[in-house]
Amino acid sequence: MQSERKTLDDRGRMTELERLRHSCAHVMAAAIAKLWPDAQFAAGPAVENGFYYDCALEHRISPEDFPAIEAEMKKIIKENLVFEKIVVTRDQAIKDAQSGRLGGLTERPGNPSKFKLGNIEEIPEGEPITYFKSGDFIDLCAGPHVMRTGNIGAYKLTSVASAYYKGDEKNPQLQRIYGTAFKNRTQFDEYFKMVEESKKRDHRKIGQEMGLYVIDTEYVGPGLPMWLPKGAAICEELEKLAKETEFAAGYVRVKTPHVAKEKMYLTSGHLPILYKDSMFPPMELVENRGQEETGAGNSDSSAVRYYLKAMNCPHHHRIFAAEPRSYRDLPLRLAEYGCQYRYEQSGELFGLMRVRSLNMNDAHIYCTREQFAAEFNAVNEMYLKYFKIFGFEKYVMRFSTHDPSRLTGDNAKFVNEPELWKQTEDMVRQTLIASKIPYAEVPNEAAFYGPKIDVQVWSVIGREFTLATNQVDFAVPKRFGLVYRDKDNTDKTPLCIHRAPLGTHERFIGFLIEHYAGNFPLWLAPEQVRVLTIGEDAAVVDYAKAIVSELRANMVRAEGDYGTDKINGKIQDAEKARVHTMLVIGPRDVQAAAVSVRLHGKGSLGAKPKAEVVADILAAIKERRA
Ligand SMILES: [Zn+2]
Ligand SMILES: [Zn+2]
Repeated sequence: MQSERKTLDDRGRMTELERLRHSCAHVMAAAIAKLWPDAQFAAGPAVENGFYYDCALEHRISPEDFPAIEAEMKKIIKENLVFEKIVVTRDQAIKDAQSGRLGGLTERPGNPSKFKLGNIEEIPEGEPITYFKSGDFIDLCAGPHVMRTGNIGAYKLTSVASAYYKGDEKNPQLQRIYGTAFKNRTQFDEYFKMVEESKKRDHRKIGQEMGLYVIDTEYVGPGLPMWLPKGAAICEELEKLAKETEFAAGYVRVKTPHVAKEKMYLTSGHLPILYKDSMFPPMELVENRGQEETGAGNSDSSAVRYYLKAMNCPHHHRIFAAEPRSYRDLPLRLAEYGCQYRYEQSGELFGLMRVRSLNMNDAHIYCTREQFAAEFNAVNEMYLKYFKIFGFEKYVMRFSTHDPSRLTGDNAKFVNEPELWKQTEDMVRQTLIASKIPYAEVPNEAAFYGPKIDVQVWSVIGREFTLATNQVDFAVPKRFGLVYRDKDNTDKTPLCIHRAPLGTHERFIGFLIEHYAGNFPLWLAPEQVRVLTIGEDAAVVDYAKAIVSELRANMVRAEGDYGTDKINGKIQDAEKARVHTMLVIGPRDVQAAAVSVRLHGKGSLGAKPKAEVVADILAAIKERRA
């Protein structure tokens, strides 16, 4: 069983909003204790978008109870009580828990604070034991909180679920009551507006309406989405964008298999332990020795383990190693839309956002130290170019660095290369400052092999999303023995930059669906143009078919609707399918060599010369207009 207990470090890193939300959990518990004095509480942390408190209570709390609880919370907040910190001895804490005083308003003889007793046991020897008291409500807690209950500006209880004490199903089942809180009403309103809007934009709902992907859990497996023709069209447009951009930036493309021998991941360090839980279990293969690779000279017939690749880097490292490299070959930028497989718990899977197969906009840049700043900067520039194309206006780069105290010893987390850490982190920091890209530095969260940058973007409705990760790697190339022959005729290890600005198709398209609410710009729209005829007159249909053919000959995803239905019905169908541009053709258009243009969700633009419309469609796609 994994302890959910936060370390003092974790607590120190809690943001102001997390403190406020956790404080609100205390207020909610006090309100529940007022209404149901028998209630026993377990853990009440801040979580993404809010907080919860686990509670054991005879009465089954339902959303119908929320108004009464919120009314009690209102009183407590109005009283503007101080969160008073009290340090106690372990003996005192145990005594108070036994008397039922912790997580309650009074002592409760015969009803000890049993979960708090369990929590006391988890507090390491030497760590102070503290209470936080607001009014009569005393709770065992290490903090931190806001100063006073009055600091909680706006709050709401949102749902109730069940959960096992400490997440272990052998333990008693508790009621988990969720809520959220904000500094003020404005932020509260903005948040709930975003929640409403994101429900409408749910990528699973829109993905199904538009026929973009399917997850066939029965025959293919959970978390393994298949792209339907319309979704595949979006994937291909993204790949085209990446290929053009990378080609112009001097990348070369490679292709690698989806599996590799265990030796690969033992060398990279992902196995035996580090990444094992995120990989699919191995396949065992006994090779027919008669057909074994020549020169193996190995009479060992034991099975060889193969793994599905969980990342593309090791394959790319072996491509680097496949030929002798000189300083003249660097920087070498190997790119691939590589498919990788990661084992996620089935409970963690979520639409396209958490999946087990991922098509990644991957590339690895092998360079010298002197080349690093320019290469890293070029990657950042590529991000900015993409942000512009997709209309991401708000973004930040989270720069994660190492913790020098964790290079050696039992809790070592980072490769023991103190000089290299310092150098690469300085290089990254300097590049970020020089590029003027907004960034935030986060200590202790680097990858084990080097500093990393998580790129966070916000959708138009204000939802935050981790788009991709850039990593500097100064350790793994060495493990693979990668070298280049330098000017001075010595062998040196290159630095490697891992980068994937468009992330994976799965997550990125999931995000784009929400960002655009399924109304993709012309260049990305699965069905770009539909030509609709008014009536079935042969001349009209022929003219419409000729337009479709002309567009398709220019790689435009155009379809025709030449049926007998009324034009209004045809327009409705096309609007429903989110077709970007509709071209409506009647007998008069044939004579005038014109078309009537309609844009999805925007209505009619009137009749225009056909040649002009076709040229404009081709230009808009080529320029990837928003
Ligand atoms: Zn607390
Ligand atoms: Zn990589």
